[in-house]
Amino acid sequence: MKTIGLLGGMSWESSVLYEELINTSVRHRLGGVHSADLIIRSYDFASIEKLQAEGDWDAAGELLATDAARLVAAGSELIVLCTNTMHRVADAIEAAIDVPFIHLADATAAAVKAAGLTTVGLLGTRFTMSEKFYRDRLESHGLTVLVPNEDEQTIVHDIIYDELVKGELNRSSREEYLDIIDRLGSRGAEGVIAGCTEIELLVTADDVFVPFFATTQIHAEAAVEAAM
Ligand code: GLU
Repeated sequence: MKTIGLLGGMSWESSVLYEELINTSVRHRLGGVHSADLIIRSYDFASIEKLQAEGDWDAAGELLATDAARLVAAGSELIVLCTNTMHRVADAIEAAIDVPFIHLADATAAAVKAAGLTTVGLLGTRFTMSEKFYRDRLESHGLTVLVPNEDEQTIVHDIIYDELVKGELNRSSREEYLDIIDRLGSRGAEGVIAGCTEIELLVTADDVFVPFFATTQIHAEAAVEAAM
């Protein structure tokens, strides 16, 4: 089993879930008292959020790339970036390492295609929904991606930064997400990607009538698969 390097803390609320899912999957696969072999770099999310808000993606890319290389130097044999949004700087990270980088959007696109769908709705931070880096990556796999309208994007984004990354799970916010998912469905989305690693803490597949792609679960499983 390979050592997995996690770039986490973005936010730690979802990194905890990554750690749990990866360890649980390894236990199921290997049995006994096996657990995952992990090295974790967990940031103070305030410093990451500041770079996002300032639009300083170059600095963010340099920071994550440097730490990815440190994880490799410390023995990581593959790298997992535990956030959809920061995949905006995936190229910088990949350029800094000589081990596999498990790209979240690739793993998610594979899951959507395995479910036989081609048109999906995408929820996430405003960066993930409105910029090209994530949608283009999904679409490079042959998918059509629908995003919420401007007002809905503001709701989805604000709930992530004002509540979910602080560990706040509110029923009213779940209802708002479910309404937005319904509207994506009526626009033709056959399924919905929870393209922010905290969304699945608030909304689960059981709450939704269309197939629901929980990116933390998908990414954690892809990491374990690659580690075996
Ligand atoms: N964890 C979130 C994501 O998957 C948002 C926090 C961040 O901006 O990294 O996009």
